[in-house]
Amino acid sequence: MDERDEDLDAFDPNIPEEGPSAPPPGWLDDIHGYQGHKGGQDDNPLYPPPPPYSPQPELNKNTLVPNVRVPTISEDEARDALLKFVQSKWTYSSKPARNLTFKELKPITVYRYRLETYTETRTSAWQFEPYNGQMVDGPQFGMCPPPWDIPVTLPQRYTSMVEKIRVPHTSFVKLCHTCNGCGKTRCTNCSGRGRKRCTFCHGHGRSRNKRCTYCHGRGRKRCISCQGQGYKTCSVCHGSQNLLHFILLTVTWKNNVDQFIPDRQPDFPDKKFQRVTGDPFFIDENVLVYPIQGFPDQEICDASMKMINEHLNRFSSTSRILQQRQTIELVPLTHAYYSYKGKDRSYFVYGTENKVFTSKYPSACTIL
Ligand SMILES: [Zn+2]
Ligand SMILES: [Zn+2]
Ligand SMILES: [Zn+2]
Repeated sequence: MDERDEDLDAFDPNIPEEGPSAPPPGWLDDIHGYQGHKGGQDDNPLYPPPPPYSPQPELNKNTLVPNVRVPTISEDEARDALLKFVQSKWTYSSKPARNLTFKELKPITVYRYRLETYTETRTSAWQFEPYNGQMVDGPQFGMCPPPWDIPVTLPQRYTSMVEKIRVPHTSFVKLCHTCNGCGKTRCTNCSGRGRKRCTFCHGHGRSRNKRCTYCHGRGRKRCISCQGQGYKTCSVCHGSQNLLHFILLTVTWKNNVDQFIPDRQPDFPDKKFQRVTGDPFFIDENVLVYPIQGFPDQEICDASMKMINEHLNRFSSTSRILQQRQTIELVPLTHAYYSYKGKDRSYFVYGTENKVFTSKYPSACTIL
């Protein structure tokens, strides 16, 4: 390499310092239907038109809640469930589970109400990409469609998904705001000089009375960040000098689920029900469902009314409700009473999976 070239200062006053990475406020105009962008990366919520549908009670459907029979389990099933549970706990002995005597298996009626509200939410934000002569779909091709008129392909119902769509006719080209259209920005590591003071000899060129071997006595080193050029290719436009701006629409589909189980078993922790499945015997689906009426358990009717109102308040102003589904499930729960070595105890078998909950087990903490 030429040593004299190395000493030349690469500083070029025409190369700008690096500007903001996001367009500053006011850089982009408001577009009709998409107002409120602050020029930043924040997504702008786009509120939907009111729902075109108002639910009506469907008396036939709601009064025809079938008479459900409480599921029962046999002694063998109750014992198998307990054995499986005991085997998953390494401090528990399986001996009591094998030898206990059942006194009573008491099935308990547990209803679980679930409301699902499937929503679509739309937000928009300005986006840009380097402009290299690609097609610019600008306003000359027509008015941009309002956010809720942009067609989308619906995913399968109740599945969560996000889709991003470029809003038609919102594109335009503008000089890059980071490099001011220069394509390059001044190197911040060397302040555009292309070289830096030698860190070994602190710029003296000599160290311990010897010529510094690190910088060959020059006291300066080529800047490794910009290879001595004093500038770098702009990180935003990648040297293309121009950016293509457009509005990006983000469509989010989400299934919002809430559940309710009347709390009537003081000895059984209700949150255990969350991880098991039940047997759904009533399923009602519509764009908007109507609160359940006439079900024998009034607490379920009340929960349905309350949750439906709550979902309407929470979602209808910010999202479009695409579908609702309310379900009543029967969740199996059996209280198993038994005696072992003259002592009376009990445990619970719950869920269609036959899971076990016990607060006391005879051999806890006895290692076999
Ligand atoms: Zn040096
Ligand atoms: Zn540099
Ligand atoms: Zn640039």
